[in-house]
Amino acid sequence: MALSSDAAHRVHSPPHHRRRTSCRSVRRSNRTRYPGSDTTPPTPKIAFTFDDLPAHGPLPPGESRLEVASKILAALHDVHMPQVFGFVNGARVEQPSDAAALQAWRDAGYPLGNHTWSHMNLNQHSLEEFEADLSHNEPELSTLMKNNNEDWHWFRFPFLAEGDTPAKSTGIRTFLAQHGYKIAAVTMSFGDYLWNEPYARCEAKGDAKAIALLESSYLAAADDSIGYYRDLSHRLYGRDIPYVLLMHVGAFDAEMLPKLLELYRSKGFEFITLEAAEGDEFYRNDTDLRQPSNPDTLEGAMAERHLALPSKASPDPDPDTLCR
Ligand SMILES: [Zn+2]
Repeated sequence: MALSSDAAHRVHSPPHHRRRTSCRSVRRSNRTRYPGSDTTPPTPKIAFTFDDLPAHGPLPPGESRLEVASKILAALHDVHMPQVFGFVNGARVEQPSDAAALQAWRDAGYPLGNHTWSHMNLNQHSLEEFEADLSHNEPELSTLMKNNNEDWHWFRFPFLAEGDTPAKSTGIRTFLAQHGYKIAAVTMSFGDYLWNEPYARCEAKGDAKAIALLESSYLAAADDSIGYYRDLSHRLYGRDIPYVLLMHVGAFDAEMLPKLLELYRSKGFEFITLEAAEGDEFYRNDTDLRQPSNPDTLEGAMAERHLALPSKASPDPDPDTLCR
């Protein structure tokens, strides 16, 4: 897989030797061995999350939302993935297959959380409109989650937009706290959504060569993002925080998920739940909303310390240019 030299440097950059004694560090056999060291750093941990259930992006000819969800669930099942939150937009349920995709998520034993009814952008709407849209999503969520004593009060901001004014960002935190929510943060992502529309287009054209390019660039971007965010975490805290990965329920995401999971496993990652990840001190602002708002992304934490972000490679080739 093609990696930029920058990304390759990050992936193979020297290890950090702190916190070496955790018993957790000896669990995995496929962890990275570091030259010149007879010990290994603690296993990095990650919680996968999926947004825009039940429908994200265009579909290739002949594929349904239920098929996309089923492929994702099968891949997660194959690696014994613990509970994975799917964040729901109730307005996206347009046909029976969409509703079946949501039910399939529940039937697999995985929880659902709130992503607003209509995928509303808080930065483009009033606080009152946003709160109404968020609340409108609750009856369906509550129904889908009712048979288990599970907590669906996890909220993922659409567009990760947490408010463009202090009044909005403070106001929504107060609202979420009053309604018992915790915020689902994002501390790792690689723009997975960018490949779904080109994939549908290339499948419709039957362009196998272009689809091969989509595959290699998707995995390279994911690989690059692992090095990028681990580098930020080590610069800031001298350790891997438990990461929360943002994914979407797109057709190409479903197609690529087995290979993506294998990539994470090959890097030594342990898969954990969102609750477990956000039990880390880094996420305190997202789980205790009485706290004042602080950065809940690694980029934000870098900015707060006036540290420049390292450069980030763009997908190559740009998926948007394919099969036009
Ligand atoms: Zn979304």
